[in-house]
Amino acid sequence: MKITSAEFVISNSDVKKCPKEPLPEYAFIGRSNVGKSSLINMLTGRNSLAKTSGRPGKTQLINHFKINGNWFLVDLPGYGYARVSKTAKKTFQKFITQYFEQREQLVCGFVLVDIRHEAQKIDLEFINYLGEKQVPFCIIFTKADKIGPKVQLAHVEAYTKKMLEAGWEEMPRYFVTSSSKGLGKDEVLEFIDNVNKD
Ligand code: GDP
Repeated sequence: MKITSAEFVISNSDVKKCPKEPLPEYAFIGRSNVGKSSLINMLTGRNSLAKTSGRPGKTQLINHFKINGNWFLVDLPGYGYARVSKTAKKTFQKFITQYFEQREQLVCGFVLVDIRHEAQKIDLEFINYLGEKQVPFCIIFTKADKIGPKVQLAHVEAYTKKMLEAGWEEMPRYFVTSSSKGLGKDEVLEFIDNVNKD
């Protein structure tokens, strides 16, 4: 898929105020600093569609971008900076869980994880939460340029093992990406394109 237009539509923290149009949408989420803004900019070919920043937790809203006039890319806030609490669910801001539980247009979530690190508790909690709610999702490994191909493979394998240990029957669909090298862009866009055509 070639992205010919990418326009910002609305930011808010209330799922009821998200666009009413019945267009398929794809939501990007992950811990702050995982490389989400860079990935969104890479995918759309726009340098500053999503605001990149070294400052954790900056994007605190649900941001809708209309792509090619026929689907929405949704940039969700980074999680993991909320107050520590007893249940995983409370760790994620309420409007994020409302978004995943109520947004009918949502087709697929993309959970971003840094390929350099071992599976983090908060990411696994979020992934398990999506599983519990039966929300379709893929995993996007980011910053692949920071390690070599062999280590990438080993880290993906280690992640898969963790997922299986956590009770998943198989590793969900995943993508290995690097925003600085343009890696994985075509694969992610092709996946979205194919789902949109189904
Ligand atoms: P966000 O907080 O998840 O939106 O993360 P950003 O996109 O702002 O990226 C956080 C930091 O990681 C920035 O310093 C980026 O330059 C860096 N970064 C993001 N993606 C990549 C990547 O693919 N490769 C490398 N080497 N650095 C990256």
